[in-house]
Amino acid sequence: MAVIIVGAGIVGLTLANLLAQQTDIPITIIDKQPPILVWDQATYDLRCSAINAFSQQTLQKLDIWPKIVAQRYGYYEQMLVWDDLAHNNIKFVAAELGVKQLGFIVENRLMQRELYQRLNCCKRVQIIFGEITGLTFSAEKVNLTVNNVEINAELIVGADGANSWLRQQLAIATSQKNYQQRALVATVETEFAHNNIAMQRFFTTGNLAFLPLDQEKLCSIVWVSSPECIENLLKLSAEAFCKELAITFDYKLGGLNLRDQPLSFPLQYMDAVKYVVDRAVLIGDAAHVIHPMAGQGLNLGLKDAVTLANVLAANSEQQRDLADPVMLRKYERQCKSHNLIMLQLVDKLNAAFRNQNTFVRLFRTNGIRLLNNLSFMKRHMVEIAMGIS
Ligand SMILES: Cc1cc2nc3c(=O)[nH]c(=O)nc-3n(C[C@H](O)[C@H](O)[C@H](O)COP(=O)(O)OP(=O)(O)OC[C@H]3O[C@@H](n4cnc5c(N)ncnc54)[C@H](O)[C@@H]3O)c2cc1C
Repeated sequence: MAVIIVGAGIVGLTLANLLAQQTDIPITIIDKQPPILVWDQATYDLRCSAINAFSQQTLQKLDIWPKIVAQRYGYYEQMLVWDDLAHNNIKFVAAELGVKQLGFIVENRLMQRELYQRLNCCKRVQIIFGEITGLTFSAEKVNLTVNNVEINAELIVGADGANSWLRQQLAIATSQKNYQQRALVATVETEFAHNNIAMQRFFTTGNLAFLPLDQEKLCSIVWVSSPECIENLLKLSAEAFCKELAITFDYKLGGLNLRDQPLSFPLQYMDAVKYVVDRAVLIGDAAHVIHPMAGQGLNLGLKDAVTLANVLAANSEQQRDLADPVMLRKYERQCKSHNLIMLQLVDKLNAAFRNQNTFVRLFRTNGIRLLNNLSFMKRHMVEIAMGIS
């Protein structure tokens, strides 16, 4: 009885840690490359994630959260969202909703390092870096060849990201859409303190989010726009870029300074038609890719990892085949329906904000105003975003 996890990203490593904590199943994790474990502390990872209460509690359960707290993280007590029409805005305030904070901002490399290092002390976990060259299935097991060594397991899990190799090997169809947008990420010093408020402005070509980091005048930004616009922004000098950024952000945090050279990523919608095929399961971005405007991709992936770990722990405890089809379907049912709702919701929101039709814009304006006054709706939205509903 063993499990192979392809992909040592945050989601794959979380699953491995949960299985190591909850079961005695031997685990092999395979990645193309080792994670980065050492960096200059003065720098911030350009990839930061807004994580919700569910994700934070998952990291807490694994004893990873105290390690992050001992290093650094940001959090937000309020979230302010506005668009380019009449400066409509909607505000979510943690205290009004009876919670301490709405979410946390954590550097991806920090989460990945802590999750990876925690596995070092687990005897039943082996981590292999290399190229997978063979995959076959038989009635009882999966055979995988990596670095010319054959490994057998009862189950293989694809946590290998948006372009999942495993998903392609299994020929799992996807519902996919290129958003014709890119996301630029950067770390920015601000003139005014962020006051632990996450802010996001929407406009017809995209959106711009400022996520508060641990220092009071430091934010991680995600700027979504057309590929041409992002390409032009990346060609600007740091000074010209910051001027453009401050104007687009309505000078909400005053003048701005770039910490490092920004990076950008293409954006897509992707939903795998199935998460489970025979002795194989998909989790995280291998199963679904969501637009980053709502900061939910990693949160959904961590929920997949927790749900799958629970299913596998039950299989192990009751001495069932780890790839028991009924139990794997249970995982698929629980996660897919929830993920699909979130994917669709964010997709529609993105379309609504990009739509230039006068009626849609009018509807949106009134919708934002109405929503800002409907506290029960706001509470429900926040509960969903926090992963507690
Ligand atoms: C700009 C931007 C901002 C975002 N902000 C947020 C946010 O605020 N909150 C949030 O919740 N989500 C956010 N997301 C989404 C989040 O980053 C992803 O959902 C999450 O990182 C996916 O994690 P993963 O472990 O599933 O995949 P990945 O991080 O892609 O990891 C996959 C791993 O698999 C390995 N791999 C790939 N192919 C192979 C192979 N053939 N063999 C072996 N290993 C392989 C890779 O090396 C990698 O280590 C954002 C995304 C973007 C683009």
